[in-house]
Amino acid sequence: MSTPLAVSLSKNVGRFAGMKPDSTNLRVVVSPGNIALTETPRDVRDAGWARLKVLACGICGTDLHLHHGMKLPMGAEYPVYPGHEVAAEVIEADPGVGPQPGTRVVVHPLLPCGKCDDCLTGREHYCAFGEMLGVHRAGGLAEEMVWPSNRLVPVDDLDPNLAALLPDAVATAYHAVQRAQLPRGGKLVVIGSGGVGTNVLQISRAIDEDVQAIAVVHSEGTAKRIKGLGFPVVQGLDGAGRAVKKEFGEIDAVIDFSGAAAAATEGVRMLKKQGRLVLGSVLDEKVAIGTTYTGLMTREIEIVGSYSNSLSDLQAVTELVRSGKLSLQGLVSHTFPLRDIEKAFDVLEKRPPGMVRVVITG
Ligand SMILES: [Zn+2]
Ligand SMILES: [Zn+2]
Repeated sequence: MSTPLAVSLSKNVGRFAGMKPDSTNLRVVVSPGNIALTETPRDVRDAGWARLKVLACGICGTDLHLHHGMKLPMGAEYPVYPGHEVAAEVIEADPGVGPQPGTRVVVHPLLPCGKCDDCLTGREHYCAFGEMLGVHRAGGLAEEMVWPSNRLVPVDDLDPNLAALLPDAVATAYHAVQRAQLPRGGKLVVIGSGGVGTNVLQISRAIDEDVQAIAVVHSEGTAKRIKGLGFPVVQGLDGAGRAVKKEFGEIDAVIDFSGAAAAATEGVRMLKKQGRLVLGSVLDEKVAIGTTYTGLMTREIEIVGSYSNSLSDLQAVTELVRSGKLSLQGLVSHTFPLRDIEKAFDVLEKRPPGMVRVVITG
């Protein structure tokens, strides 16, 4: 399944050490099976847009899928300039419009059309005509990039390497917690505790310190890490429904980010009446829930999806971090400079034990 990386660094990369011409921007370019660093002309900055110096950019499964040649969404084509998890400093902006030069920000990676029914009813993240940073538009695996000022969220003096986690893994986790509609002091089970799942656990506790959040994890290593954060753990998805019920009683909401098809069945099994199952995994299989129409009907179980996140989710989660209620410490396991993009993708591909999030530093 894994493709050996073919990385060809631009011959001219060396001359960027110390003397970069003002007219170019060093950025990562990806086409199926190939990653390279390349010089591109500096982006033109339109009115209402900001020019950003990238301080840190996370990479995730989406970037790996691009490298593997995934089918691109409508309107995008290879080669792509990836990077959608960006912390940056504003270096140019229209006076009085959005964060001004010198401000550190995170970037909401969706550019909604602003005109469709979803956009006009405050549901921009469903916009079917939206463009994604790092897919449709040149992303943040670069020295600099441009983006609309009204899609930037100030982060003050937050460590850029941690701030880079906010727009994807953390805001998406926040959105899933909203979808779970937990009662105060409720019981939550999170199935799968990689980057997003770990954030779901932490966010649920940051929002309500009386919540009882429990993790269902796969590996011994993850079990240890999650226990270290103070959450009880059930190891192994097979039979988790019964195991959780026996140890913790029935559950108000289950959020799945495991990517395992069995999660829905186990999740439904542990829910109490009127419980909610939130499906956040990207998985192209039919949903099997291990019960009958009657079983679902009599228990009034709700099954909902949770997709990505919106600008308001990013603003909310940034506020949780800035106020000290949510800590992101320990979530960045690997950092690499831009010139080592090959090594970074290699780590992401191999998922060594202990890997959580990989961040490219500016
Ligand atoms: Zn991502
Ligand atoms: Zn729209």
